[in-house]
Amino acid sequence: MRAGDPRLERLTDLDPRDELLSLLPAELETSLAGWLAERGEPSYRVAQIVDAVYRHGVTGWTAISTLPTDLRTQLEAGYRFPSIAPHESRESVDGTRKFLWKLVDGESIESVLIPTPRRDTICISSQVGCPLACAFCATGVFGYRRNLTAGEIVDQARRLKALRGRSDVGMNVVFMGMGEPLLNWNPVAAALEILIDPRGLDLGARRVTVSTVGVPERIVALGERFPQVRLAVSLHAARDEVRNEIVPLNRRHPVRELIAACRVWAESTGKRLTFEYVHLPGVNDGVADAVALAELLKRVPAKVNLMRYNPVEGLGFRRPTEAETMTFRDAVTDLSQSAITIRKSRGIDIEGACGQLRLAHEASAVAAEIGGHTS
Ligand code: SF4
Repeated sequence: MRAGDPRLERLTDLDPRDELLSLLPAELETSLAGWLAERGEPSYRVAQIVDAVYRHGVTGWTAISTLPTDLRTQLEAGYRFPSIAPHESRESVDGTRKFLWKLVDGESIESVLIPTPRRDTICISSQVGCPLACAFCATGVFGYRRNLTAGEIVDQARRLKALRGRSDVGMNVVFMGMGEPLLNWNPVAAALEILIDPRGLDLGARRVTVSTVGVPERIVALGERFPQVRLAVSLHAARDEVRNEIVPLNRRHPVRELIAACRVWAESTGKRLTFEYVHLPGVNDGVADAVALAELLKRVPAKVNLMRYNPVEGLGFRRPTEAETMTFRDAVTDLSQSAITIRKSRGIDIEGACGQLRLAHEASAVAAEIGGHTS
């Protein structure tokens, strides 16, 4: 937990137990070993607990059947586990599953599980809401509530890994849900360690991607500390005059500064990053936008994922036609000689973009409060 963050300190007031899933693997082993020794329990119980938590994805202390019942009761009193509780889930016709989780202070967050024949991708949140207010984003509508703890981040991945129900294909994790992960650096860095450590979730660093709208100094720090973890930058516009309007953080860190950090990241990791570009017709798809994007691609080793926008009610942006997106893709490809991939939107029927399930849920809760008028 980050010292001095009153919103996170409030969680300790609500539940003073140590949060098991926020402990780094070495801290977890030391803490459990000491706790068990004080109670005269054998040291092999540490491995039993770690196994149940990270290999089998148990949903709580009572589900660890390898432990005596009274020990489970004592552990329940000693450690907060799990960190999040299931609240609602929806499944799309394309198999995408979206989960809404409740937190100890009543807040809620979302995660998404996207299965494909060759791999599963899970998309996890790093904050409750988001302070960055990107103009096209459902999460931005709520503003910022608080950072997530490392445990709340890890538990999303841990639970979806167990819920996906198959281990014959690989699993990728992307920090692309609610929130800006690089504004919650300490818990996100701790969560990354737990996700990739063989004593933790053991996911393999190459399977993990951090997606950011661009916090330059943290992009550099990410590359230095986690050189195997992948980077996706939500660019959405390559010209400051457009990006300032749709990604307000750009006014503090303009494109030039962002690209300089991306170059440092690419040099220190030896990797190519990904630019995410949500196509907003009439906003970021003009000739000047294509030229500017192509210029950036000559300065930094990157590929581009172009996505057709999923409209959010009330935000004033429409979904482009396939033909419009292909026209923009072709213009950038011609100018840059780079491959631009058009990504399919998944889970549109279940509000698949980040923040949209929470938005739908809160909208219906508000509608219920004011008398159930939802039209
Ligand atoms: S797009 Fe990402 S950074 Fe921007 S408001 Fe939404 S969650 Fe925050």
